[in-house]
Amino acid sequence: MTDKTKKAKIAVIGSTGSIGLSALDVIREHKDRFEIVALAAGSNAEVLKQQINEFNPRFAALSDETAAMNLKKSVSGVEIRAGEDGVASLCEIDDVDIVLVSVVGIAGLAPALKTLRAGKRLALATKEVLVAAGQLIIDETKKYNAEILPVDSEHCAIFQCMQAAGALKSKSVERLILTASGGPFLGKSFDELKNITPKEALAHPTWNMGSKISIDSATLMNKGLEVIEARWLFDIPPEQIDVVVHPQSIVHSLVDFCDGAAIAQMSNPDMRMPILYAFTFPERAPLQMPPLDLAAIGKLTFSKPDYKVFPCLDLAYVALKEGGIVPAVLNASNEIAVQKFLDGEIGFLEISSYIEKKMEKCDNINNPTLEDVISADKWARNEL
Ligand code: MG
Repeated sequence: MTDKTKKAKIAVIGSTGSIGLSALDVIREHKDRFEIVALAAGSNAEVLKQQINEFNPRFAALSDETAAMNLKKSVSGVEIRAGEDGVASLCEIDDVDIVLVSVVGIAGLAPALKTLRAGKRLALATKEVLVAAGQLIIDETKKYNAEILPVDSEHCAIFQCMQAAGALKSKSVERLILTASGGPFLGKSFDELKNITPKEALAHPTWNMGSKISIDSATLMNKGLEVIEARWLFDIPPEQIDVVVHPQSIVHSLVDFCDGAAIAQMSNPDMRMPILYAFTFPERAPLQMPPLDLAAIGKLTFSKPDYKVFPCLDLAYVALKEGGIVPAVLNASNEIAVQKFLDGEIGFLEISSYIEKKMEKCDNINNPTLEDVISADKWARNEL
């Protein structure tokens, strides 16, 4: 994008969610650099309509077909597509350069694959895609000469540290260290978590996010999913990926190199930065942000995660080590368990036991095909 006269053309899949809204903020701030060609959401026709009126995309879609029909009647000058296929079809529109996939969970798989198979840049916020089908996604990226830019603060941090060290794909990386805020229950004992309500679990101390990722942060499953995500994005084996708890969320992650140097990326916690970087890489563009005031922050602290209190983190390492379809089973059963917790059907501590049971029951398949991954996902969504 050195040619300033040519705007990058963007499709936002998941435009009404937390990341989608931040992406539109970024685009609004850089109208000279970016143009929205397509917007897609699940069922929120009202917010999507406002976005269509503001950004004038040529295409829009809702995965909820009834909501899409209603939207069609209330807007003009935009082609409205419907259903999950309609949403995914936006990823292969010819003149789209970058697709941001920021839908929740495995629903991101089809749009991500379409984007990669069209040879485009995938700005990936939906980590579940890499968790369920990591090897397949990386293979498709190479096969179609596409690229993945992570829109997850930790992975964006690691990506930047690698760039800074000039070490991308080199053997000089010793360890990736993912930082974790620790979520709202940092320091609590296992017993204290027994009667946690969804409302308490949704109240994240440093990040304001959607409900699924907020619960994942409270159980530390989010960090577990991020370990798996990092394994595939950076081609680093799990034994070289560590997690450290850092409640201030200022150091977004670190890379440890073979000569003992560690490079970290720091900034105020704001998802607009990873989003903008995924859009502009290898360049940087300005962003209106308060400067990082380390003196005002005063203290940055780090500690080891408590695997006994937060067993989900360990389950993710186990799934990664077992490989095959187990990570897909971990991911799907987590999505189900989180929903059950939000619906008041199971307690907070039952989230991990629900996932563990599913993992134990699954017959693993080595080197799974995409079909294997999709059927493992379906299997894991059935009742125990
Ligand atoms: Mg993250």
